[in-house]
Order: sequence, then C-alpha cells, then structure tokens
Amino acid sequence: MARPSSAVPRRPIVDEVEAAVAELHLAEQAVELDRSPRFPREEFRALGERHMLALRTPVALGGRGLPLLDAAVGLHAVAYRSGTTFAKLSLQPEFCQLLAEFGSAEQRERSFRPLTEGRRLVGNHITEPSAGSDAAALSATARAEGDGFVLDGTKSEAAFAADADEAIVYAKTDGPQVSAFLVPQDLDGIERSVAPPDLGERWMRRGTVRYTSVHLPASARLGPEGGAFEALKGELTRERLLLAAIYLGVGRASFEETVDHVGEREAFGRPLSAQQSVSFPLADDWARLDSTWLYVERGLARLEVGEDVAAEAALAKNMAVEVALRAIDHAIQFHGGRGYSGGLPHERRFRDVRSGAIAHGPSEVLSRVAAAHLWPRSAAGKRS
Ligand SMILES: Cc1cc2nc3c(=O)[nH]c(=O)nc-3n(C[C@H](O)[C@H](O)[C@H](O)COP(=O)(O)OP(=O)(O)OC[C@H]3O[C@@H](n4cnc5c(N)ncnc54)[C@H](O)[C@@H]3O)c2cc1C
Repeated sequence: MARPSSAVPRRPIVDEVEAAVAELHLAEQAVELDRSPRFPREEFRALGERHMLALRTPVALGGRGLPLLDAAVGLHAVAYRSGTTFAKLSLQPEFCQLLAEFGSAEQRERSFRPLTEGRRLVGNHITEPSAGSDAAALSATARAEGDGFVLDGTKSEAAFAADADEAIVYAKTDGPQVSAFLVPQDLDGIERSVAPPDLGERWMRRGTVRYTSVHLPASARLGPEGGAFEALKGELTRERLLLAAIYLGVGRASFEETVDHVGEREAFGRPLSAQQSVSFPLADDWARLDSTWLYVERGLARLEVGEDVAAEAALAKNMAVEVALRAIDHAIQFHGGRGYSGGLPHERRFRDVRSGAIAHGPSEVLSRVAAAHLWPRSAAGKRS
C-alpha cells in the first residue's frame, strides 16, 4: 500500500528520535502513564542525557541549539512515534524561557541547566481559580518587604502541581502589572494538591498550589518588575509553533494507521476504502495535515529571521489542534468498535490532543490575538 507523502522534511534528528523512542520504550511508557499517572522522572533524566530536551535552546544554556525547523521536525517525530507525552516533556525548557533569559547566572546554573538535563522540574503558575484566559485579572500578590517579597495567592490548573521542584509564579507587585518569580516548591507556606485525573495528559498531574506569606529574596524576580507578560511574548510565539508540530505529529500517526486499516478491512464485500464516505474524509485529512504543517514551517522560517509572527503562531496552534483532532476522530470512527476502545491508541491520542484547545491559550483567545493583528484599532484598549 502506498504510504501517503508527507510535507514534513526528514532531518538527522529524526533518526535519533526513533532510536530514543525504541530504546526507552517511550510509546509503551506513554500508555502506562495514562493508566497510572506519575511524573516520569526516569525517562525525563534519560531524555536529558540524550540531549533530547531543549532541542532549540542555545548550547550555552544547556540546550542542543537546533534551528527552529529541525526542533519542530524532532518534536513532530517524537509525537508521531509516541504521542504527546514525551514531546511535551521535551518542550518544558521552552516553557521556562523567562528563567533562561532573565535568570541570574546562578539561577540558570542551579535551575535552568538541570531542567535541560532532566534533573530538575520547573513548572509555571499563572492560572488562578478566578482568572485564567484573562491573565491581567490575576489576584496573587508579591508584596515588597525588607530586601525581598512576600508571596500570597492560589494557583490552579497547574501541571506538575505536586511534582515540580520549582515554579515560575506570576503575581502583582505594585499596581495592576504582573511580575514573575522563581519559587522553590519546598519553601514554608506552600501547600500543594493534585486534582482528580484529567481527560488526557494525566501524567501532568495538574492541581492547586497555595502560597501563604511565602518569603522570597529580591533575586527571585525574573525579568523587569511588572513586565512579565511583555517578556513572555517571544516564548509564547515559539512555543505555539512548536506545539502545533507536536499535535500534527499525533494526528499524522492516526491518519496513516487509518489509511492502512481501511485499505485492508473489508465490509460488504469490499475494502472500507472503496466507500467514498470513508476515503474522502481521509483524503481531506491528508491535505489538512500537510497544509497546516506548511503553514507552521513558514511561521518557523519567518520567526528564525526575526519577524513578528505572534498572530500566525496563534493561528497555527489553533489549526493544528483542530486538524489533528479531526484526523484522530476519523481514526476512531473508521476503526469501528476497536477504535473506541483503549486497545488502540486513537482514543488516548484524542484525549491528549484535546487539551491543546485550552492549554497555552484557549483557541478563542488565540483567535483574538490574530484578530488584533488584522484590526489593531478595534483591539486597542481591550485586554486579551
Ligand atoms: C493540560 C493543561 C495543562 C495546563 N497547565 C497549566 C500550567 O502548568 N500552569 C498554569 O498556570 N495553567 C495551566 N493550565 C491552565 C490553562 O492555562 C487555563 O485553563 C487556560 O488559560 C484557560 O483559563 P481558565 O481555565 O481560567 O478558563 P476561563 O478563562 O474561565 O475561560 C473558559 C473558556 O472561555 C472561553 N474564553 C475565555 N476568554 C474568551 C474570550 N476573550 N473570547 C472568547 N472566548 C473566551 C474559552 O473557550 C475558554 O476555554 C493548563 C490547562 C490544561 C488543560
């Protein structure tokens, strides 16, 4: 059976990814982590030793320093071979760029480099029970006291709520502006709890972290006072394009497996692929997966030369989630009863990718980002 062509270029990193996935049994581990959620410390360390975390991060900061496109191809390959779990884990240093860019030399050596090596887990605490999408409405505070700060507030929905060694916590210092702080999670006044298991991505063990009069030194602040969200813009653009590559990798896996399946499975005396109501949606998936990849690739190329692609990155993530979910849904449908069961990977892939429409910016909020680019005057004065 002809393998459908793919717009994703083959890069040397793919061979390494395939070797790591096979030798570390990442596909099997992802299934296990869904059944019995835990943070995969051992695999985190093993990926760090292979320099598979922080693919794009500059070498001086402990990363591999790959061009953006190569990093995206590598993440797509991890996701294609083993699902979102270890691809997202590989992106964790990317989610902590405030630490890489604004941390002191000592903070980078103590926290960021070990993160790239899989030895220290750093989370992000932005969302609160009463504010998520509208991050400007956060209520956590970091009050200046002596030569440091006192942190108070409750953070919710956070990945690695009980597993992170440190977290980048967002809080208001003085007035409406938000600052970021690097907070070791074993300080006095921190209470952590894990929520009931999620629909998917259960290994993240999301939950709530309460900060009550937590004393921080002045050096805990990352970046300019009140400038956390401005400082975060570059990271958000990059991570949304890289997340898009991950979702497309998962969608591609389900698509290819379904093309094979419907070519072989017979019903009513013919292969399922002979039914246009089966073959046409899959042909459309093929075009959508490839064209969305090309959109992502163009965004990455423009970002690599310093262009502002914040709007395109937001749209790329939205499209990738939608296209991947549709392809996986077709996989569930056209595999019939087994497609709906936990015996095949499609239902887990669907549950995992579904988070993409909420985490790292809900789709509607990302559409707002793109619309604000098209009509800047209509967006002026409105918070996003
Ligand atoms: C798997 C996963 C991992 C996560 N990890 C973390 C983490 O590590 N740290 C962290 O801080 N948070 C994390 N989150 C939380 C996530 O960032 C928030 O859930 C998200 O920002 C939405 O905020 P909210 O839940 O408060 O929803 P709300 O702000 O209440 O919004 C609810 C829904 O309303 C819609 N909506 C909101 N605003 C608009 C608008 N302006 N226009 C149109 N529609 C709108 C969207 O559909 C949105 O999903 C994670 C979430 C998930 C699912």
